[in-house]
Amino acid sequence: MSFKVHSPVVIIGSGPAGLTAAIYTARAGYPPLVIGGFEFGGQLMLTTYIENFPGFPDGILGPDLMQNMRKQAEKVGATIIDQNVTAVDFSTRPFRIFVDEDMYTADAVIIATGASAKWLGLESENRLKGRGVSSCAVCDGAFFKGQDVVVVGGGDSAMEDSIYLSNMCRSVTVIHRRDKLRASAIMQKRAMERPNIHFVWNSVVQEVLGDKKVSGVRIRNVITGEESTISCSAVFVAIGHTPNTEIFKPYLEMNDNGYLKVVKETRTNIDGVFAAGDVSDHIYRQAITAAGIGARAALDAVRYLEVLHSEKKAQEVLVKSLSEETG
Ligand code: NAP
Repeated sequence: MSFKVHSPVVIIGSGPAGLTAAIYTARAGYPPLVIGGFEFGGQLMLTTYIENFPGFPDGILGPDLMQNMRKQAEKVGATIIDQNVTAVDFSTRPFRIFVDEDMYTADAVIIATGASAKWLGLESENRLKGRGVSSCAVCDGAFFKGQDVVVVGGGDSAMEDSIYLSNMCRSVTVIHRRDKLRASAIMQKRAMERPNIHFVWNSVVQEVLGDKKVSGVRIRNVITGEESTISCSAVFVAIGHTPNTEIFKPYLEMNDNGYLKVVKETRTNIDGVFAAGDVSDHIYRQAITAAGIGARAALDAVRYLEVLHSEKKAQEVLVKSLSEETG
């Protein structure tokens, strides 16, 4: 175990919540250490144009927005390392944060670890990951130019992926387990207007077919029980996300789905540990709401640090005057 550095505040995660928190804490006089993960930037690195982040009338690419946020955070004093936190110890003060054998300490921690893509949980899906099964249309879509692909899911992610894929693939078949989409009206409309996007309703994927690479899916109609197969070269799974909270389980309270519980604004059940973004928000889950909560978490952390540091100073003064008094 090697001790690396103590920071007033460590931010875990480098999506919009983490980087906004970094900008705010740095500008308040507490330059943070951001341990941002191997995959810097979070979910927006996997998206194309963002049209609903205010300030960009022509839209902005997700990766560009994240690079800008990073540049801004570093410019005002944040240090960012692209490594994964492997464990934490919130039972002692200062808090301990581990990256394998390296230990970092902090007076306050802001958790902004976001959420990761969910999978269907099929053996065949797992076996064919990277061989046609993907959770990232933007990353892998280009491999399937001119081919037939399937998208699983009925939310905004599934619609966004389908629209993106329809620009390069011959056909996109959306398989949804109900007969109504969860996606917003505008995304539904955009997807339905594309002539090469088709919908298969009330159906679930039973098996991804293929030996070394995907050749199709076997699906079951949940109303009739009827099974059928669809030929395709790729399956894009877009069925939502799971919060990245595993390493915090021994210390922090969570809801049934594993999202961090905030007890007061952005405070968790441990004084000095704050949560921001998708890791604690299963309702809004937008880049702009994550950034907003990141700013709130930073302001809460700064208030906490100011009280903590003034108490420490008062204690030091008291000890000094007592030692002078007693000679
Ligand atoms: P989501 O809204 O939770 O939708 C997940 C979809 O997958 C639902 O249609 C769900 O079906 C289906 N599903 C879940 N588990 C399944 C399973 N095991 N098998 C088959 N289908 C399953 O997730 P999301 O689409 O990732 O969106 C998350 C949030 O991000 C939303 O707030 C969304 O608005 C936002 N978002 C916005 C944009 C944009 O504005 N450009 C793009 C992407 C995401 P049911 O409908 O039956 O539950």
